[in-house]
Amino acid sequence: MSEILSIQSLSSGYEGMQVLNRVSLSVDQGVTAVLLGANGAGKTTLLKSTLGIISPMSGEVFIDGNNVTKDKPEAKIRKGIAYFSEFGVLPNLSIHENLKLGGFFLHHSDLKDKVAYMYEKFPDLKEKRKELAGSLSGGQRKMLGMARALISQPKLVLMDEPSAGLSPLFVNQVISLVKEFKKEFGSAFLIAEQNVKFLDIADHVFVLDGGEITFTGTVAELQESDAISKAYFGVH
Ligand code: ATP
Repeated sequence: MSEILSIQSLSSGYEGMQVLNRVSLSVDQGVTAVLLGANGAGKTTLLKSTLGIISPMSGEVFIDGNNVTKDKPEAKIRKGIAYFSEFGVLPNLSIHENLKLGGFFLHHSDLKDKVAYMYEKFPDLKEKRKELAGSLSGGQRKMLGMARALISQPKLVLMDEPSAGLSPLFVNQVISLVKEFKKEFGSAFLIAEQNVKFLDIADHVFVLDGGEITFTGTVAELQESDAISKAYFGVH
């Protein structure tokens, strides 16, 4: 299997504060990888640096074997990378307009089909498509963000804590979507999460602790290791 994403020795952070220290990880095509880490471990910083929302201090990011470290987020999105975070849904646009934004670079006819496909998956959004996104509940707004990220049927989806603030029902819906997109379109996922429920669908797990990767392996291997207790409870 070839790598869709490879991050090599990436250091990154904010002015005057380094958060990530030489992080390396890779995700194969069609694989669901879960990045576990406690609050403040650097998960968001890692996803943002991968997409290019934050410019890394050093290290490299490869997509499909191409060095894209310096590419802007838009360029990466065009190459089939999607990014989901709790932000980004535009409250003053309708649900339909928000959804179409996720496929802004698709051809018109293609976009139409893909919008229809997403409405099949999210009948609630279809029903409310003319309403402003700002009128949705927090959970529905996140599902719109999810639909928008997935509409282009991306090769790789970077998801930042999809379960945060969601009811168990919505969490299950996210998990089903991940499974479905993996199966239907061969999408790979890198999902930053604190919710261990996502381990149920993880082919591969990374643990991020204090800006460093402290575990790489399968769920079974994770269960044998003490990486989680160290990351979450500071047991060393
Ligand atoms: P959480 O689940 O709390 O979002 P996380 O693992 O995603 O945690 P990050 O959000 O990447 O962690 O934060 C890592 C560190 O970087 C934290 O110490 C945080 O305070 C700091 N940080 C995050 N965003 C900024 C910013 N814009 N400017 C300065 N420091 C930041």
